[in-house]
Amino acid sequence: DDAGVPGRVRVAVRLRPRIAEESVGDADFADCVELQPELKRLKLRKNNWDSDTYEFDEVLTEFASQKRVYEVVAKPVVESVLDGYNGTIMAYGQTGTGKTYTLGRLGEEDTAARGIMVRAMEDILADISFETDSVLVSYLQLYMETIQDLLDPPNDNISIVEDPKTGDVSLPGASLVEIRNQKSFLELLRVGEAHRFAANTKLNTESSRSHAILMVHVKRSVKGRQSVLSTDNGANSHLKMLKPPLVRKGKLVVVDLAGSERIDKSGSEGHALEEAKSINLSLSALGKCINALAENSAHVPVRDSKLTRLLKDSFGGTARTSLVITIGPSPRHRGETASTIMFGQRAM
Ligand code: ADP
Ligand code: MG
Repeated sequence: DDAGVPGRVRVAVRLRPRIAEESVGDADFADCVELQPELKRLKLRKNNWDSDTYEFDEVLTEFASQKRVYEVVAKPVVESVLDGYNGTIMAYGQTGTGKTYTLGRLGEEDTAARGIMVRAMEDILADISFETDSVLVSYLQLYMETIQDLLDPPNDNISIVEDPKTGDVSLPGASLVEIRNQKSFLELLRVGEAHRFAANTKLNTESSRSHAILMVHVKRSVKGRQSVLSTDNGANSHLKMLKPPLVRKGKLVVVDLAGSERIDKSGSEGHALEEAKSINLSLSALGKCINALAENSAHVPVRDSKLTRLLKDSFGGTARTSLVITIGPSPRHRGETASTIMFGQRAM
């Protein structure tokens, strides 16, 4: 198992349980997929007697708890961020299949329901020391190739800048909020979500038509070699003072992607058509980048969209990426489910 191996994208598939409206008219429909979690396999039904079989790094059934999903999909990435690397967790799938449920649930009334963002922050806060370390958060929406600050609307004057020496990506203009406890993080997510809703109402669009991006910058002062010297208490203790602390910076990016469903372009025009084109552009650019990573290609084509430019320092090198693809059980959406599965397969 190459869990957390840098450079390679880990792909998990998560099946959402049937929701009420799927059970009403279709009480006895056969699910379009069959999961074999022990074998890490998924079967996609072709017809009544035949199916295609796919393998993933993890197969999460409709019974998988939020805790288990966090442990499988996110925890290794969060741990590498705490060690000073960049890490990305993304959810890809058709609208209504559970991307936001998986990443963004706050679980205020029921802590077992908490999603990946909240659990990740809990692990980060538990590991750091505020005497030496800091946690800064940005929360953004990427809509039609414009980055909007969800913590300071209507600021959309945010550019993507790459440090020519280090390759680090920064977003001058985006708010960075220091987080010291889980309560203030939950408040930040709530405020961001409210701003997102308001902005989308104004733009006459749905949140499923944009990407939501949470960035968590973890900066730590590491004692480094001092810990080696400190075993030698006494004569050498003054040497510790001579060693400047090493600074380790890790960045966690959590991306709740726009719905992957194909929009009927023939029926759309004007704004809706532009919106559909923009989503296609960014999701296909993302697909190309993660395919390039999967193929170990020296060239990752990040230039094609803002989404991939923004994720540039999260691709390859020492960075870790985890992708969860979300699907529903209904045979009515078999075509979309098949295309989501293929997106996940190409990333591996
Ligand atoms: P998306 O963000 O992909 O559009 P949502 O996360 O909003 O989808 O989920 C759509 C609906 O399905 C919501 O009502 C959500 O509560 C429900 N849902 C999604 N995943 C699960 C799950 N694993 N268990 C129970 N309900 C789920
Ligand atoms: Mg959603």
